[in-house]
Amino acid sequence: MTINRALFDEVMVPNYAPSAVIPVKGEGSRVWDQEGREYIDFAGGIAVNCLGHCHPALVNALKEQGEKIWHLSNVMANEPALRLAKKLVDATFADKVYFANSGAEANEAALKLARRWALDTVGEQKSQIIAFNKGFHGRTFFTVTVGGQTAYSDGFGPKPADIVHTDYNDLESFKALISDNTCAVMIEPLQGEGGIVSPTADFIKGVRALCDQHNALLIFDEVQTGVGRTGDLYAYQGLDVTPDILTTAKALGGGFPIGAMITTTEIAKHLKVGTHGSTYGGNPLACAVAEAAFDTVNTETVLSGVKQKEALFRELLTTINDKYNVFSEIRGKGLLIGAVVTEQYKGKAKEFLVAATAHGLMSLVAGADVVRFTPSLVIPDTDIREGMARFEKAVADVVKANA
Ligand SMILES: *Cc1c(COP(=O)(O)O)cnc(C)c1O
Repeated sequence: MTINRALFDEVMVPNYAPSAVIPVKGEGSRVWDQEGREYIDFAGGIAVNCLGHCHPALVNALKEQGEKIWHLSNVMANEPALRLAKKLVDATFADKVYFANSGAEANEAALKLARRWALDTVGEQKSQIIAFNKGFHGRTFFTVTVGGQTAYSDGFGPKPADIVHTDYNDLESFKALISDNTCAVMIEPLQGEGGIVSPTADFIKGVRALCDQHNALLIFDEVQTGVGRTGDLYAYQGLDVTPDILTTAKALGGGFPIGAMITTTEIAKHLKVGTHGSTYGGNPLACAVAEAAFDTVNTETVLSGVKQKEALFRELLTTINDKYNVFSEIRGKGLLIGAVVTEQYKGKAKEFLVAATAHGLMSLVAGADVVRFTPSLVIPDTDIREGMARFEKAVADVVKANA
């Protein structure tokens, strides 16, 4: 059997259009494809591989747990899940944890919990969910409807009801929408897929205050920002705004599928026995790997390292841009960085990604106008420099092609 890109078109559902490159091995921030070509990884599996590829602490946790017990179901508790839950609770505002297998599932749980809470404590009329244009919360039907891109939610028939959207960073229009019938507000504390957009302090604090005023739950979707990505363990800690419910996935497992919803005892109690669940949620293998990732990331060395590496990324990107003038802004926080293309390259962010791949660098886009970098939180500075040298060649190619 020949395993190549052509086989994808033959046997896979066509909802993705992957690159021709098929990676087979990774170590730290370097990846090798089937032909042995080496890449520097500034994509981190879309902000997932927070410790790069095959980090020894994660490999050890996987091997150790792999020889003990793999799966039990929620009919029985397991040690890795209990340990990880305790660590999440100790490190955050939360008292309770629900484990899922992905970001979308963690958000689905958060939204269902919010609706239950509102029904139990106020009544049927309190069902409105407010979210934000360009927001992204996953691909289940509930979460994709709460997400702010109709391109992802249209075409699947009738949607879950009473979900409205307004513009991110527009406190006035948010204020006009929220009422005592608002059940919850779901927001990313830095929009990722929507283009790497940070909230202004006035906006995010204003959203919190208005939620308090109208007795609505504030849900922070930290699926992309969580577990050290912004230089804080969770982004809310750097914003000085505490949500009522928080969801975390992506980097939580460092590459192993897991998600979690965390909240307070008062709110959690509305998800009573039998109201929600997941066969794999809290799987011992996933939790053992996530525990190792969490222990490794949640240290002063790694978190302050993220801030230092952000500075190096910004410096090198600015140097490239001084020469080629292709970006209007470098934005984001920590190692969630967006380079916004200038008017001349509008809609062409993907060209930079494709050119970078050709020069041995993996990167991402966030929408059509932003090149996104979400590398390992412990990427060595030498790999950042080498990766940026490759990116400069890619930028030169794009400039030449568009001249
Ligand atoms: C990636 C992402 C999700 C979806 O996570 P999945 O694991 O793909 O379901 C949800 N919210 C945000 C902010 C994300 O970045």
